[in-house]
Amino acid sequence: HEINNPLTAILGYSELLELGIHGPVTPAQREAISRIQRSQRHLLGLINDVLNFAKLDAGSVRFDLADVSLADAVAAAESMVAPQMAAKNLHFVLPSCENVPAVRADAEKLRQVLLNLLGNAVKFTDRGGEIAVTCEAGPTAVRLAVRDTGIGIPAEKLEAIFEPFVQVDRQLSRPNEGVGLGLAISRELARGMGGELTAESVEGAGSTFTLTLPRAG
Ligand code: ADP
Repeated sequence: HEINNPLTAILGYSELLELGIHGPVTPAQREAISRIQRSQRHLLGLINDVLNFAKLDAGSVRFDLADVSLADAVAAAESMVAPQMAAKNLHFVLPSCENVPAVRADAEKLRQVLLNLLGNAVKFTDRGGEIAVTCEAGPTAVRLAVRDTGIGIPAEKLEAIFEPFVQVDRQLSRPNEGVGLGLAISRELARGMGGELTAESVEGAGSTFTLTLPRAG
């Protein structure tokens, strides 16, 4: 609350200004107000990431495990990144998740992990590339892989990217796109559900992130 209240106030007062409550707004002022609002949203996102990671790290996050359809979870996450994929003309393929057995997972946290993996795939893949999600069931676990044809990750960074605040190239990750907590959070979430999250990559050719979760039942 100590953090959320001032952030909510920033948004609230900027919206009052935008509405002209305190007098007419010039186009330049409108542009400035919209920048304030974008920065407010960005800061809110970063703070949520930091708080979420701190909670996970302290072991105080509860996991509500249930039988979850991977296909549904992928569809939900994909629909959230579909606009960004379309904007970058990325080709999305999903050949093998439809009939894969259900997993034991916390549905909301699973969606969060998938959203992070798909979001990264979109962020680090150039226009016209491909993002593929594949599923494969083993005797006790199901593996879901998110593969992209993006910039890839140097071999010596493949483990480090799962540590908090590590980004391969800060320039590339532009200032308003995260602080390097997404994968640290995602791995903690995967492990909290009894699973694992790993990465493979060929620099310049693409990356594959593999999420393993226990089979339901
Ligand atoms: P953020 O996306 O906020 O930087 P993440 O923890 O999600 O934080 O990712 C950490 C870093 O790992 C990224 O900054 C990037 O350097 C690298 N990375 C993650 N996913 C990919 C990917 N699909 N392709 C290339 N690099 C990636």
